[in-house]
Amino acid sequence: MNGNLNVQTENIFPVIKKFLYSDHEIFLRELVSNAVDATQKLKAVSSRGELKGDLGDLTVELVLDSKKKTLTFKDRGIGMTAEEVEKYINQIAFSGATDFLDKYKDVQENLIGHFGLGFYSAFMVADKVEIFTKSYKDAPAVHWTCDGSPTFEMVEDPKHTDRGTDIVLHIADDCKEFLQEQEILQLLRKYCRFMPIAIRFGEESVWVDSETEFDEVDDGNGGKKKQPKRVEKKQPRIINNTEPAWRKSPSSLTDEDYKKFYHELYPMNFEDPLFQIHLNVDYPFNLTGILYFPKVRKTIDPTRNKIQLYCNQVFVTDSVEGIVPDYLMLLHGVLDSPDIPLNVSRSYLQSDSNVKKISSHISKKVADKLEEMFKNDRKDFENKWDDIKIFIEYGMLTEEKFCERAMKFSLFKNTQGEFFSLKDYRDKIAPLQTDKDKNVCYLYANDMEEQHAYIAKAKEKGYDVLLMDSVLTPHYVNLLEQKIEKTRFVRVDADTVEKLIPHDDNIPEKLTQEQKDKLKPIIEGEVDTKKFTVQMESLESDDQPMLITQSEFMRRYKEMQATSGGGMGYFGEMPESYNLVVNVNHPLIEEVLNETDSEKQKQLVHQLTDLALLANGLLKGEALTEFVKRSVSMIK
Ligand code: ADP
Repeated sequence: MNGNLNVQTENIFPVIKKFLYSDHEIFLRELVSNAVDATQKLKAVSSRGELKGDLGDLTVELVLDSKKKTLTFKDRGIGMTAEEVEKYINQIAFSGATDFLDKYKDVQENLIGHFGLGFYSAFMVADKVEIFTKSYKDAPAVHWTCDGSPTFEMVEDPKHTDRGTDIVLHIADDCKEFLQEQEILQLLRKYCRFMPIAIRFGEESVWVDSETEFDEVDDGNGGKKKQPKRVEKKQPRIINNTEPAWRKSPSSLTDEDYKKFYHELYPMNFEDPLFQIHLNVDYPFNLTGILYFPKVRKTIDPTRNKIQLYCNQVFVTDSVEGIVPDYLMLLHGVLDSPDIPLNVSRSYLQSDSNVKKISSHISKKVADKLEEMFKNDRKDFENKWDDIKIFIEYGMLTEEKFCERAMKFSLFKNTQGEFFSLKDYRDKIAPLQTDKDKNVCYLYANDMEEQHAYIAKAKEKGYDVLLMDSVLTPHYVNLLEQKIEKTRFVRVDADTVEKLIPHDDNIPEKLTQEQKDKLKPIIEGEVDTKKFTVQMESLESDDQPMLITQSEFMRRYKEMQATSGGGMGYFGEMPESYNLVVNVNHPLIEEVLNETDSEKQKQLVHQLTDLALLANGLLKGEALTEFVKRSVSMIK
């Protein structure tokens, strides 16, 4: 029988061909999916008792013939009768393809999956397609041919007696890459790696013990023994794991199984994940998957080991923006859901109610897991803290709901390496670290080496100092100041220890106002006043004579600008500026004031400012060399 395809336009094939040019490769996913579906349908028919007897080997197979320029998809599934080919291929499938093109012509770039194009995607790479199919029902086999024009040819083919379907693509000249074994192999591994029916493509070599050939080797007792030769053996190459871990029941899996699956997913990643969450929901939406927490140290690289999205074990995409909350993009693993609409634009996706539900479900599961770890094994949670804190901070900064939950399990780590919950920490520091305005002041350092002197000073006072060294710290402390009432975060080097947490008790000053007015210009004459603001302060007489501080406010906003990317705003453009604090109660400062030899006075001021700079790691290059020289000459 010959016939016309049910088409409105004459030139549908060129359209299909051009459609998503860069995504031609999806024909492979579509055709293998169809073969797998047909096989699963056969299994269902058989399990209902509608088909008797052995089903035989159900492996789906791809055969490449580069001489004939064909790629054939073979399955031993339910097959089709002539009526079914007419219905599913000539009418339904084709109108499906036409509809699809009509609907999505304008949003092609936005498509994330391309489901729906189905069988006809074969014409993206082939200029002629043949179907040989025989139904499991008692009906003759059918041979269908279409060369890309809207006409097809369909004949009975009694020679073909095997149940199932062969789809033969005659690959077009401009798509020769699909005649290369490596290309097909790579695509199969991308799209079909976890499909539920075994898929075979070619053969692979394995090394095994020979049964017939032996080597003579030393037996260790001076004699010889026979040892089987290692020989190369060809075996069918099966490209998929039909039972990926996420489809199994969590109770049947050990931690090792999860790790093994992680490495199967990301063969190029040698580090183990920290822990994982196994998702398994079937109402009100269907979602399975495993999300792994990787070690997230200072570098966040969301481009590697991305979360992969599957639809019933068929790979769809690894760009899941819009489907999972932003902060969860740092996780690794797989999500599998038939309830995520795939052939729609991303902006539509974000407003889809199922997607919203799925996204908040995932977020909730993540919070549940973290809270459970915090409650059930605090020590273990603390051990993992450094690796997951960026992730938690990022989540708190970007997701209101997650933030609320995380306030309960988020930890502080102090410079002694002790961990506290947010609440316990506040209780600990409140007695000593509440300022005169009733704010509880949290002191933090971001570099224990560089800020050593400041940390030591604060500790002398009985204060506790947190270690907060993540890239998100400036944003995170800002958030906590908003979330916890009467809270102030101050980095230890932001001010003199007296002023970090201002109390009412002032230290009496040794200098009069007149003396201070005289001293200030002397010091200002020796420093770069564009960079340093000279401040006279009354500190303990055994404190440093001079020290450098940097305003918390300015520094934090500068850092926030730097990490939030985008153009440098007002604060980002401000030059670095510091305070040079002069301790008016220190005997050396009095000495500066009383020095009558102006050269000596200058030298003394210089020495004191350099010492302050040195303590802050700000004395470098030529200035440092000169300082060393000057110090030596002063010792002499
Ligand atoms: P979809 O798979 O989305 O239904 P397709 O265009 O890919 O759309 O296929 C249309 C129909 O053709 C399928 O629903 C199925 O009934 C039939 N079909 C396609 N491929 C095969 C196959 N290998 N074996 C049996 N039937 C098939």
